[in-house]
Amino acid sequence: MQSGKPLLMVNQVYKSFDQNDVVKDVSLELNNGEIGCLLGPSGCGKTTLLRIIAGFETVQQGVVTIADRDVSSKTIMIPPEQRNIGMVFQDYALFPHLSVAENIAFGLKQGSRRSKQKIIERLLELVGLETSGKSYPHELSGGQQQRVALARALAPEPKLLLLDEPFSNLDVTLREKLTVEVRDILKIAGITALMVTHNQYEAFSVADSVGVIFNGSISQWDSAYNIYHEPKTLEVATFVGDGSILKGRVTGANQISCGLGELNGDLSLPCENGCQVDLLVRPEDVLHDDSSKVSAKVIHKSFRGPNILYKLELPNTETCLALVSSHHNHQLGENIGIVPEVDNLVVFPSEATVFDTV
Ligand code: ATP
Repeated sequence: MQSGKPLLMVNQVYKSFDQNDVVKDVSLELNNGEIGCLLGPSGCGKTTLLRIIAGFETVQQGVVTIADRDVSSKTIMIPPEQRNIGMVFQDYALFPHLSVAENIAFGLKQGSRRSKQKIIERLLELVGLETSGKSYPHELSGGQQQRVALARALAPEPKLLLLDEPFSNLDVTLREKLTVEVRDILKIAGITALMVTHNQYEAFSVADSVGVIFNGSISQWDSAYNIYHEPKTLEVATFVGDGSILKGRVTGANQISCGLGELNGDLSLPCENGCQVDLLVRPEDVLHDDSSKVSAKVIHKSFRGPNILYKLELPNTETCLALVSSHHNHQLGENIGIVPEVDNLVVFPSEATVFDTV
């Protein structure tokens, strides 16, 4: 019987290749049925961490526990096939000479022919390919092939599913559709899953918890909402989503003076009057209003269909982004009225600023 403990526990894991520290003091937990996502720039160590959990890499320090069983440590190395995990890779890795049903059946070692057939039918239905059991991989689209790969990985009922950049071979439209579908499939299957991606929108739409990794360390493990709205470090703030960092000065309890004027809101860190801070301003927090007294010059614009992302030069020469309905189509060099609406003042210590500790 499953205990109340997290299904996956990674505790203070270290991994280096030839003196090069690739995973540093990483800890994370996934509860039963939770979907986690490791997000970070290329080379930050995401895949290595996934491979450690899968049992393809050893660790120098720390412990990995899956379903109450220590599977990796300095002295333990349970092989991948004994970890009760499923894996989905970016290149689908389907057997081209086997039909869809045979591909799914591949992982089913035990059971009668009839019981296997039932599992295959259930999985084909789960991934929306009820009528494709007899098809061969080359007869399917990339998105359909990836759904077969998912069904195959789920067939042996693994305790944990690991997905390594599962959507990166697909075109953008299909990607967006499949990310939502895969989340639904995983939730219906009730499986605990950990996915690696460098695409933040994929991470946001699939995961319950997102871990942002830089340089082998997790900077923040949190909900997608908090990662976006309450980033814990300047690095996370600038890596995730669009935004501008403005110089600011704390002028009162929950008040900051910056290039957008005086802003009132909840400060993310307690800081004294006069403190110099770096303030995160998201583009959707800068509203366009022709009647505003504050105006800024359009120095760049990027059309995004329903919206235009404007880069604006503020009166103090700092720049800031504003996401504006594309009905308001302004020209480069034009001055447009803006109103900041920043309720949460996400601030980071500027150099030489001493902050109170929380
Ligand atoms: P990407 O998004 O580009 O796949 P990643 O975040 O998944 O990157 P990793 O593949 O984990 O990064 O690699 C992290 C670092 O570890 C890189 O500098 C890589 O060169 C190094 N590395 C990975 N595997 C090995 C290995 N077997 N031997 C030596 N160095 C390795």
